[in-house]
Amino acid sequence: MNFAIILAGGISSRMNSNIPKQYIKINDKPMIMYSIETFQKNSQIDRIIVVAKDQYHETIKSYCSKYGITKLDNIVSSGSSRQNSVNNALSYLKEKKISEDDIVLIHDSARPLVSQKIIDDNISECMKTGSVVTAVSVNDTIFISDGCKVDAPLERSKLKASQTPQTFTFKIILDAYEKNLDESVTDDVQMVLKNGISVSIVDGDKNNFKITTDNDILLLKNILDSSK
Ligand code: C5P
Repeated sequence: MNFAIILAGGISSRMNSNIPKQYIKINDKPMIMYSIETFQKNSQIDRIIVVAKDQYHETIKSYCSKYGITKLDNIVSSGSSRQNSVNNALSYLKEKKISEDDIVLIHDSARPLVSQKIIDDNISECMKTGSVVTAVSVNDTIFISDGCKVDAPLERSKLKASQTPQTFTFKIILDAYEKNLDESVTDDVQMVLKNGISVSIVDGDKNNFKITTDNDILLLKNILDSSK
């Protein structure tokens, strides 16, 4: 079976909004529902687990019934960091006794424009390799800095920016989280790499960007309006 974990436990500290960005309405639809609907519509996805702060669980349930989400399996409490939120969802799946070979796609609800192609590519690549990151090439030149001066320029042709979904067999991702939960990381691939497991790459999409600032909301609205 293929499980999607949709992460919505963030507090949007980098935005001027009194509600977390995933609940902001974009063209009348809460941002979180864009990605949930895309996973719902994908015929390969069996169940959806949403991770969110307890105070939003009822709201998410009502949104899911309003938008006809039949694959919602559960809403799990978020943790104090992204990795604690993922860990809570994995603990739930462990309790549910899903198979080691089941596939788990982990997706940021802050990326509302994930496409069906990205989901399909993640699943087919994971069936081959067990461990997948969605990524895009980098257009800017990137360097490491202490904040004031350039320390080390990096070779652009070798750089990729990771997106979500990031997709694994349940065995690989559970093992990575059980062994490395205390490490400081910003995504799931880094957890898996710490276990010495190689991760294959599927192409992401510029539209699958993470909504982080108020400007990103304007960009999202423009993309949605231009695709009408
Ligand atoms: O903070 P960042 O932008 O990296 O968050 C990526 C995703 O992780 C977002 O969708 C956010 O809602 C989620 N998150 C979470 N629990 C946290 C922090 C972030 O589910 N404690």
